[in-house]
Amino acid sequence: MIHEQVRHDVAGTARQMVLRGLAHGTSGNVSARIGPDLFAVTPTGTDHASLAPEDIVVLDATGRIVAGRLRPTSEVPMHLGVYLARPDVGAIVHTHSDYATAFSILREPIPAAHYLLAFAGPSVPCAEYATYGTPELAANAVAALAGSRATLLANHGVLAVGPDLRTALTVAESVEVVAGLYHRARTIGEPRLLDAAEMARVATLFTTYGQPQQVGDDPPE
Ligand code: 13P
Ligand code: ZN
Repeated sequence: MIHEQVRHDVAGTARQMVLRGLAHGTSGNVSARIGPDLFAVTPTGTDHASLAPEDIVVLDATGRIVAGRLRPTSEVPMHLGVYLARPDVGAIVHTHSDYATAFSILREPIPAAHYLLAFAGPSVPCAEYATYGTPELAANAVAALAGSRATLLANHGVLAVGPDLRTALTVAESVEVVAGLYHRARTIGEPRLLDAAEMARVATLFTTYGQPQQVGDDPPE
């Protein structure tokens, strides 16, 4: 059943968030669209490293629980807000990864310091501050995200999206990697940035980068 496959994949992606050093403890959350009005989200306040498929909560578009025994993430308004505003988004990964979150505390965007940022956009903006879990944070995040794949959340973390979980996780990881490199470069000199034309060129190359995906390929484990 499609529900069960998506719950399995959301749990696997949440575990990957920890394995890749993007989340500590219960910080961050993951979700995926099951259908136009059905979503699978991680539970609130749980250790991502030990999530099982049955721990993943299934919600309708109003936030009503359709399946699962645990309370859903406190960021349901942000996840549903993005899905509502962005029909192209099939999955969301929210992290408090170290370097990107440090830039969110400066309320500075991550600029095009390395071509890998093209997984997210030519640059990653920073949304206005609002308290975690609020409709205000959801609105600020949706506004800052606009048409792109990632935004910083002021004094909070990173919101990464994609058509599927694998892409959203790659976007979140790329933002953190580039934030770390940009930080290091700034400590030793004056970074030189890539221009918009080069980032657009790389974004096009990324559409065919790597091995072709096969139907039935394993999702993140
Ligand atoms: P949850 O445990 O409720 O998902 O909250 C973690 C978080 O990152 C809130 O922004
Ligand atoms: Zn958070």
